[in-house]
Amino acid sequence: MKPIAVTLLAALAPSLAFAETAADAGRTTALHCAHFVDTAAGKLLGATTIVIDGKRIRSVQTGRVDVPGAGSIDIGDATCLPGLIDSHTHLTGETSPTGYTDQFRWNVADYAIRSTVYARRTLEAGFTTVRNLGDNDGESVALRNAINAGIVPGPRIFTAGVAIGSTGGHADGSDGYRKDLAGDPGPKEGIINGVDDAWKAVRQHYKDGDDLIKIMPSGGVLDESSSVDNAQMTLDEVKAVVAAAHDYGFTVAAHAHGAEGIRRAVVGGVDSIEHGTFMDDADMKLMKEHGTWYVPTIIAGKYVEEKANVPGYYPPQVAAKAKQVGPIIQQTAARAYKAGVKIAFGTDASVYPHGQNAKEFQYMVEAGIPPMVALQAATTHAAELLHKSKDLGSVEAGKFADVIAVDGNPLEDITRMQKVAFVMKEGVVYKQDGKPAP
Ligand SMILES: [Zn+2]
Repeated sequence: MKPIAVTLLAALAPSLAFAETAADAGRTTALHCAHFVDTAAGKLLGATTIVIDGKRIRSVQTGRVDVPGAGSIDIGDATCLPGLIDSHTHLTGETSPTGYTDQFRWNVADYAIRSTVYARRTLEAGFTTVRNLGDNDGESVALRNAINAGIVPGPRIFTAGVAIGSTGGHADGSDGYRKDLAGDPGPKEGIINGVDDAWKAVRQHYKDGDDLIKIMPSGGVLDESSSVDNAQMTLDEVKAVVAAAHDYGFTVAAHAHGAEGIRRAVVGGVDSIEHGTFMDDADMKLMKEHGTWYVPTIIAGKYVEEKANVPGYYPPQVAAKAKQVGPIIQQTAARAYKAGVKIAFGTDASVYPHGQNAKEFQYMVEAGIPPMVALQAATTHAAELLHKSKDLGSVEAGKFADVIAVDGNPLEDITRMQKVAFVMKEGVVYKQDGKPAP
């Protein structure tokens, strides 16, 4: 254990400056924005002054207002927005052509150290909050805690720890391995078969210090099994997870591509459907009835389709599934928006390189989602999905001072979201003039 701890400390030492910046954040700052996207009202406003006391917003005032005794930050002719929320990330891993063999060589510490780099990249891309929907062995809890303590810079993390699914399913990371390597993981590792296992798995998450639950009621792309869309949990298992989750105040996110897996998840009472590729009209009707959120992750579908055509990037079984999902996922987002399904922004970051999260906005707008609705999906609506609207999702008095800025008008050109010039999280500036803050 000792050598690992020493290595970790050495790797993290340069970032300790951020802890000091956070410590003197007790002061008042006036942030002057030339334009302001008020996502709560759905309006683009003119010059706005955001007054910040420590970690929280004191007031939002029209025009350029001088605040006596306050420090001031002028970000020029940029447009301010609330800090963005990505409802679907995996901050402890990242796509790589060697990813399938790395997992036989890497320890949890390898993933943990790399995750500090991915977290910083995500924050600098304007994402001040994420839902982390699945890690290897709880290392996202350590990352969350280090970020909260000001030791490494990164977004505020709400983590699901390891995903919950059934034997041989998308959560069972050992599909396709030699038998002695595949083993037989159980509820402690997130693999359940039956109602009792479901309760045990959720309670284990409570014990492990997770914030929410992620389940896998349908097949997925990146494991080496044959189906991307078969149903992999019974309705009773889903209901048991949801009932147990509610005992502990957890929300439940459901990865699901197939129509039947989506149906069981929605009827079982989950809060969100992730990906939803083969969602049918009946699923959409059910989601509206149950108030279930949809997190499209279009960028992940497009990225895996692209890499499926690079020989050797994925094992053959994975490449075949990626080619099924890629061409459909954006059309599903278009259909769901038209049908009136509630949409929260999420990207499946790690399936594509961290930091490119904002490309999803472009894909959403291409799918017919209006730019303001796409921005709300990543702010006010994502905060609702998290059950954190009191603290997050808009720039309003009393909420956390999470503010970003982009040059120009992102409602006219949504690709501007991919070039974030300014990032503030809880009153601390992490990026200014397009460069990381010193
Ligand atoms: Zn995912």
